[in-house]
Amino acid sequence: MRVPLLDLKAQYREIRTEVMAAIQAVCDEQGFILGPRVVELEQAVAKYVGSTHAVGVASGSDALLLSLMAMGVGHGDEVITVPFTFFATAGAISRLGAKPVFVDIKPDTFNMDASQIEKKITARTKAIIPVHLFGQCADMDAINDIARRKKLRVIEDAAQAIGAARKGVRAGVLGDVGCFSFFPSKNLGGFGDGGMITTNDRSLSESLASLRVHGSRVKYVHEQVGINSRLDALQAAVLRVKLNYLDRWSEGRRKNAAKYEQLFKDAKLLDRATLPKTDAGNHHVFNQFTIRAQKRDELRAYLKDKGVGTEIYYPIPMHLQSCYRELTYQKGDFPVSERASEAVLSLPIYAELTDDQLAYVAETIKEFYSRH
Ligand SMILES: *Cc1c(COP(=O)(O)O)cnc(C)c1O
Repeated sequence: MRVPLLDLKAQYREIRTEVMAAIQAVCDEQGFILGPRVVELEQAVAKYVGSTHAVGVASGSDALLLSLMAMGVGHGDEVITVPFTFFATAGAISRLGAKPVFVDIKPDTFNMDASQIEKKITARTKAIIPVHLFGQCADMDAINDIARRKKLRVIEDAAQAIGAARKGVRAGVLGDVGCFSFFPSKNLGGFGDGGMITTNDRSLSESLASLRVHGSRVKYVHEQVGINSRLDALQAAVLRVKLNYLDRWSEGRRKNAAKYEQLFKDAKLLDRATLPKTDAGNHHVFNQFTIRAQKRDELRAYLKDKGVGTEIYYPIPMHLQSCYRELTYQKGDFPVSERASEAVLSLPIYAELTDDQLAYVAETIKEFYSRH
């Protein structure tokens, strides 16, 4: 049996007619950059998330970069984030000449350990970027409380967490701005790159809308130096169709996570592989189903051999990346992140997985541990 890590073709088969009609409509219009299709998606995402504003941009990475730009983060500033994340989180900070300052994660949720933030705050600290990793929200009450007291901005890296919620409030309105990615492997994935920023702050949203078109509100009049980071009409049209299915797909991921839990329990695997934990009050949308596995690399190779796709998100924490040598962090500085990077393994979790495929993944893991 083959169980790929993600099967976008299975999803596409279900929506093909509808998506192709939406693409064709854009082609007939021949309007490709921003425009009414993008506005329509912005309004739909704002409504979905519960924000008053949404700004479509070229990628999740740019959503982070533009958010920092709109908050005036620049050379010499510091921004607090986690080392256990996709590179874009830290990269956005560095690209503006600011310095990423890391705090470790919590072992159970892989999300920012808020208790470590305060000791990292200096006179140069401007913002905090918690990451809602794998599809569940970070500890936003504690993070917002610190931010409020210390007058810092909060940018949610919600790239993996569209539809996730904490205490009934959706990711995207839990901080000052929420950054989403429409990279194809995210829960709401486009046919290419795309991103969006949500906020309830009108002046930030106006600034973001200007920064994505070279800092201009009126054509050829530039009030600030921005970048080119626009969402395409074609992407917006595809995403508008897919947004209607998002909750169903996320529910499918949640059901599959529950099935894995039962299968792992029945197979008595829990002493060899630790399953992901959901924090109380969190609605988890499982962009990834990430276990901690003994003999992780051997298990991964065994699964590959048996046709099961997996991935390691993420093998090298940011503080140990060679591009960050000059930050002078060392191995041992963030032990929870380092241990996570050595043990994590993400398993197939997409909505279209069959019960047979889920059972096969669990059986194959059981088979591996019976021999190792
Ligand atoms: C995917 C992702 C991003 C970047 O999004 P792109 O659209 O690929 O630029 C940022 N942060 C996290 C945590 C992500 O998973």
